[in-house]
Formats: sequence, structure tokens, C-alpha cells
Amino acid sequence: MTCRLMFSLAILAAPSAGAFAQAEPITKMTYAEAKARIPEREIPAFWMGSLAGLSGRLETLDRGTTKVVAISPGGRPLHLVTYGEHEPVERLANYNSAIGAREPAAYLDKTARKKPVIFLIGPVHGHEVEALTGLINLIEIMETGKDLRGRDQRGLQALGQRCRLLIMPAGNPDGIARFEPQTLKGMTVADLQFWGQGTWSDDTLAGWPGAKRLHPMAGPLAGWLGCYYNDAGINPMHDEFFAPMSSEAPAILKIALEEGPDLATSLHSHGQPPVLLRPAYVPAESQERVLALSEQYYALLAERGLPHGRPFRVSAEGGANPASFNLTSAIHHVSGADAFTFECPHGLVEERYCQVTLEEILDIQLALYEAMMRFALEQKEQ
Ligand SMILES: [Zn+2]
Repeated sequence: MTCRLMFSLAILAAPSAGAFAQAEPITKMTYAEAKARIPEREIPAFWMGSLAGLSGRLETLDRGTTKVVAISPGGRPLHLVTYGEHEPVERLANYNSAIGAREPAAYLDKTARKKPVIFLIGPVHGHEVEALTGLINLIEIMETGKDLRGRDQRGLQALGQRCRLLIMPAGNPDGIARFEPQTLKGMTVADLQFWGQGTWSDDTLAGWPGAKRLHPMAGPLAGWLGCYYNDAGINPMHDEFFAPMSSEAPAILKIALEEGPDLATSLHSHGQPPVLLRPAYVPAESQERVLALSEQYYALLAERGLPHGRPFRVSAEGGANPASFNLTSAIHHVSGADAFTFECPHGLVEERYCQVTLEEILDIQLALYEAMMRFALEQKEQ
């Protein structure tokens, strides 16, 4: 999770007074305790909650092209899967120089391309495997016309074939490798905190957003390393983009820079309903296009009986706690893409969180990709 909504969780999670006082919130957890809390359950075959079989699956595609774009600090490959030909376009300048010239096409004339380019970035936070599941299912759909449930998805496949798709199923394989529950569905916010942000050295849950005060997450203050981080303790969402500390964020930015996507998303998860976050430090017009996409997406979810969040308000940064310049912002500034962070529900057990099944989570993911393809194709026709 990256979103500001999570701030309210800390308040909601506070103990309530009254005759039927709730159990004290959990503030500490050891690895052994966290492991013992993982419920016994059967994970359906369409769900991808780990790296098991991932490389083999990606290296044997018929229609897609797979390449390894980086190696994580833990020695794990970052894969990029593409569908649709790369359309070469003349380039004179990098993006910010082209903007300085008042001629964005000097970076890359996106209107000269026949197909829109869409960049889908899977979990850079390793416990947010909802997007790993979504993207592996999308790859299966592009390969076969069916998702991993065997459901006919030829409509989505046909839309995908009208685009160039850049799919990075796992944006932080080290973090995913550390995630043992395979899904947080049916688990509590304390479990999310343990597997997500990890603990300080005294076993206190680091939590959101306090975990961000130490970066890299390493050294004597750090305890169990959460799935937010790669094996070097770097959270790719907050790498130092002008002086990179690790390999994942630079690999993602290089793809964006080289491909100049029309639309890009970093896929995350949290407790609340699905929501597109306001992109920070980008022009109002880019925010407005992401807002328009979010409204179309929420309408699609409502039509399908799926939950959704509320549209954001286009605004400038400011106030006591302005938004951070994160990976999503950086993607815009190297490529001009309309880039945003997406948050999907985990299906946490507490009633105050968005209640969804694993199947609904997959449907929420696939509907997002569909909305993005429709939106990018519409923009192209304008
Ligand atoms: Zn996240």
C-alpha cells in the first residue's frame, strides 16, 4: 500500500472503549508468530501467490516475448513480457528536454504510432500479489483467449491485440519470495503489517507510513524485513531516482524511457476498495486523464457488481504533508506517460475493509486492464 487512505487505518485500528472492549491491537509480532497465523486453506490454481513456476511459465510463451531486464539484489530475474510490435519513431531528445523545447514530439511522437503502448508494472511490494495474479492471468489470456480459471476472455484478448502491452509481472521478486501466506485474503491488518512493512528490531510492527522513515530498511533499527523491500532493503517505490540505490526502479524507468508508454500503472494493494490514486507532481492535464480513466473504470466495476473507490480531486502538491515524488511520478517525467498507482483490495478479514473473494480480486484486476486498453484506444482515436 502506498496510499494516504491507509493513514486512517491506524486510527480505525485503535482500541475502542466500552462494555465489549475489543482485543488490544497487535503491535508486535515475531516471524514464528506470523508463520503460525497463516490459515490452513486451499489456494486456487488461478491464483499466483509466489514465484513458483513463474520463470518457466514466462520463458515458454508462444505469442509474447519475454526478456530479463534486471537482476534483483537477491539474484532473481525481473521479466518483461511484451505483446505487439515495437513501433520505432524518430527521437531527438530526452523527455524533459523535449518539454523544455515546447515540443513533446521531439522526445517521441506518440501520435505517429498505430497502437497505444500500455505499461503494467506488477507488485514492487512483494505481498501485493493481487497484481501478480492479475498479470499472469492477462498473459494467459493473450496466449490462449482464456484466463487461468478457463473462462473465455477473447474480448479482452482482442482489445490487448490492438495495443502494445509491456507487462512486468513481478516488480520486486525478492519481496515476493519473502511472502509466505500467498494471499492476505481472510487475514488481519496486523498480518498485512508484518508481511508488508516488517518489524523493527524489537519486533514492533513497522507499519505504514512509519516504515518509510528508515531507507534502506537495514542496520540495527531494522527487524524482520517486510515484503515491501528487496533483499537490499530498498522499497522500489521510493528508490533515489536520480542516484539509484538498487536495480528494480531503474529497470522500470529504463523501459518507460525507451518505450514512451501512453499509459502506465504501478499495481499495489491495500484494505479498501479498488482505487486509482492521484498522480503527484505531474501536470493537471495528466491528472485529468487519469481521473477520466478512473471514472470509466469505476463504472465498469459497478456494472459488474464489484466494489470501487471514489474519484480523486485534481490538485497541486502542498500542505503539511505533501505527496512524495515516487516511482509513478518518475515514470511520467522520463516518458510523458499518464502514470498512476493502483490499489486493489487484499480481502482482509475485518469487516471495515473491502470484502472480496479471490475470484473477485482477479475480476477487479482484469477490469482495470480492460479499462486502460479501452481508454488508451479511445485517446488514440481522438
Ligand atoms: Zn504497495
